[in-house]
Amino acid sequence: MGPSHLCFPPTRDAGLARLADFAPRAGRAYAAGRNIDDGPENEGAISRLSPYVRYRLITEREIVAAVLSRHDLPAAGQFVREVLWRTYWKGWLEMRPAVWSRFLEERDQQRQEFSDVRALADAEGGATGIEGFDDWARELVATGYLHNHARMWFASIWIFTLRLPWTLGADFFLRHLLDADAASNTLSWRWVAGLQTVGKTYLATTDNIARCTNGRFAPKGLAEVAVALTEAPVPPAREVPSLARPVTGEPSMLLVSHEDLHPESLLFPEVPIAAALVVVDGGLLWGEGARAFVASAAADTATRLAAHFACPVEIATRFDAAALLAAARAAGVRQIVTPSAPVGPVAEALAAIAPILRQDGIELVPMRRSWDDRFWPEAKKGFFALNQCIPALLRDEGLS
Ligand SMILES: Cc1cc2nc3c(=O)[nH]c(=O)nc-3n(C[C@H](O)[C@H](O)[C@H](O)COP(=O)(O)OP(=O)(O)OC[C@H]3O[C@@H](n4cnc5c(N)ncnc54)[C@H](O)[C@@H]3O)c2cc1C
Repeated sequence: MGPSHLCFPPTRDAGLARLADFAPRAGRAYAAGRNIDDGPENEGAISRLSPYVRYRLITEREIVAAVLSRHDLPAAGQFVREVLWRTYWKGWLEMRPAVWSRFLEERDQQRQEFSDVRALADAEGGATGIEGFDDWARELVATGYLHNHARMWFASIWIFTLRLPWTLGADFFLRHLLDADAASNTLSWRWVAGLQTVGKTYLATTDNIARCTNGRFAPKGLAEVAVALTEAPVPPAREVPSLARPVTGEPSMLLVSHEDLHPESLLFPEVPIAAALVVVDGGLLWGEGARAFVASAAADTATRLAAHFACPVEIATRFDAAALLAAARAAGVRQIVTPSAPVGPVAEALAAIAPILRQDGIELVPMRRSWDDRFWPEAKKGFFALNQCIPALLRDEGLS
């Protein structure tokens, strides 16, 4: 058992406790210290809330509300902006789903074709001889977490010093991060590689690493230039898909996936919930650590839902149209409501199931949070454009 900041108990209460503990430090202390990675044994200035918010055991809105109840927006601006980077990446990918499909195709192709198996194994196993890089590889595998700056240095060294395919590095992260996320991970790797902001790369340097690790590491022999990778142009952004609203007053079944494990804060009272089904499909996650986290977090969610909606709640291990139909019939409902899933495997599973259910007279209705509805359309351009809207959109959300 390591230090408590490296343990991520998979319950909403544990996420809320971490948030309550961190909120007093979310102001200038965070802004001053967030770039320093002084090692896994030290708590550092960051929140380590990412696994909780990734699966929405606690929501972005709750995090920002807790922080703004202790600090004004200018003081907590840096932290709020970081939370909104997550929102920005989700919105950006929602409008460009082809970038996710492209990543998957290229990753699968590289898995087949990349022949320097030894170099790949050394990089993943922490055996390259590059100070810091090897430590972060081992830290990631051991803890399921890496500091943001370490993720940036690691990705930069992977791409520009070791010259390994970026998609295999992103895949390594997906398989080990507890917070593994289609949008934040893929788009951050693309950003380091110079694909996301076309031509603008991130170069890890010895000086920066030494300064921001408090002298723990000063790797030698790093690439001195980072020439941007190139690709075919990204298809133009679509609008954030609009969603039909559920029929109010219609008794409904609630379907929950690991993309949003706090549906109590999403559903409005006009939809009576007669039953709930929490699907924990490990095949739609990438790593063992994330699977274990989600399995327990989903059980925590099922317990909460039974109390909140006073209805029967079951847990299933697959998105299966026949099982959903049977559950809806048993509950006597024709409407299934579900927190809308962002671009990724769950969204694909739901898109495949919806037409099958419709044939049998059951409507699957995804519902999106007002947070996503407000912020996602602002991710059409760069983060700067969204950043300009933060005070106004937080006011619209009833915050600040
Ligand atoms: C190459 C690379 C891969 C990444 N992969 C993921 C991933 O798979 N999943 C993931 O959640 N984050 C990812 N990030 C973003 C970021 O590193 C983590 O969210 C952050 O380190 C989590 O630690 P924390 O909760 O202590 O963050 P804090 O600094 O305390 O920030 C609070 C919250 O804001 C969000 N956040 C902070 N920084 C970022 C950022 N740069 N981009 C997006 N959201 C951010 C997270 O939800 C985080 O929990 C990646 C970054 C890089 C450079």
